[in-house]
Amino acid sequence: MKTYKLLLLPGDGIGPEIIGEIEKLVRFYREAGIADFATEKALIGGASYDAYGAPLTGKTLKLARDADAVLLVAVGGPKWAGVPFDKRPEAGLLGLRKALGLFANLRPAICYPALADASSLKPELVQGLDMLIVRELIGGVYFGEPKEIVTLENGEKRAVDTQLYTTHEIERIARVAFELARKRAKRVTSAEKHNAMKTGVLWKEVVTRVGADYPDIELNHIFVDNCGMQIVRRPKQFDVIVTDNLFGDILSDVAAMTTGSLGILPSASLGETDPATGKANAMYEPVHGSAPDITGKGIANPIATLSSLSMAFRYSFDLPEESDRLEKAIAGALAKGLRTADIAKPGEATVNTSQMGDAIIAALKESLA
Ligand code: NAD
Repeated sequence: MKTYKLLLLPGDGIGPEIIGEIEKLVRFYREAGIADFATEKALIGGASYDAYGAPLTGKTLKLARDADAVLLVAVGGPKWAGVPFDKRPEAGLLGLRKALGLFANLRPAICYPALADASSLKPELVQGLDMLIVRELIGGVYFGEPKEIVTLENGEKRAVDTQLYTTHEIERIARVAFELARKRAKRVTSAEKHNAMKTGVLWKEVVTRVGADYPDIELNHIFVDNCGMQIVRRPKQFDVIVTDNLFGDILSDVAAMTTGSLGILPSASLGETDPATGKANAMYEPVHGSAPDITGKGIANPIATLSSLSMAFRYSFDLPEESDRLEKAIAGALAKGLRTADIAKPGEATVNTSQMGDAIIAALKESLA
């Protein structure tokens, strides 16, 4: 049985409640003789700020670098609203992504059959939906310099963020999108705004050039505002969407709602493969945040985090069959009618975080029997 080094970062809010379900799952895999995990747990975000005065410490960063994969739940919350900008919980997360070189953010929007009627769209528009947004994660306007608020001579303030992309940054994210499309429906849609932004002009040019290396993949270009509209109009037209950091942030949240709830959506963030070791840094996270409004109640939906572990099986541990098995177990628990409050219809009976985790493990056991 192979042992994988997995770093658990619960973060803030509902993070510590949800990570308990991952720990249960890890025990299950060990006891079932499927895989073993050498797990470590560390602080990040507000919890790290409270303990060490910094949202990301060298110790957490070293553990993350040493791990085969990192599983993080979420950071942030109103408690840290007043801390200096560079010490905010989100700065810890952005810093970790940057330090690990996690340039490719994969955000699938898959509709579990049992939840088709939980979508804000008509069920027939989302039944069978399987779309993947590939977002550039460590460049663009969230990182470009200058990034500042300055006071002008007349006393007025001026805020500046800088949208910035190089050929290399666009090329490597485009290649990830084309490679993934090869294992899917072989279609890539590149979303940018070349009618208004220079970065959009370069983005389109580079993606087109990279696309020539993938003649088996159909490439389309779309203005990002139209892309947002098309995702809510007819989401099943998309296979892989590749886009920049800011646009990807927005499009993936829009796509999230087509599937019903933030509480079920996973993500993967991947770095470049080191040619010497063959290892790539990778972090897996649910799409949702720390949900301060339900923290401490034990009712958070653990599915997005469990599904993030399933992505780790696929992209970091080379266990695609275990990834499929876990996804099927999640779909099975939902098909049996189990619902946490976020995905329940009004008046429907609900289960708590731990009960949902147990039901998924029970479905896994059934699949092995
Ligand atoms: P959020 O995702 O935390 O919550 C939005 C809504 O969805 C809330 O009503 C919440 O209760 C619900 N929700 C989220 N996850 C859920 C789950 N697993 N089960 C059930 N319900 C769930 O977004 P927000 O309210 O905008 O942000 C709250 C905090 O989280 C902020 O500090 C924000 O900065 C942070 N945040 C962090 C990340 C991250 O760590 N990657 C992402 C988004 C937001």
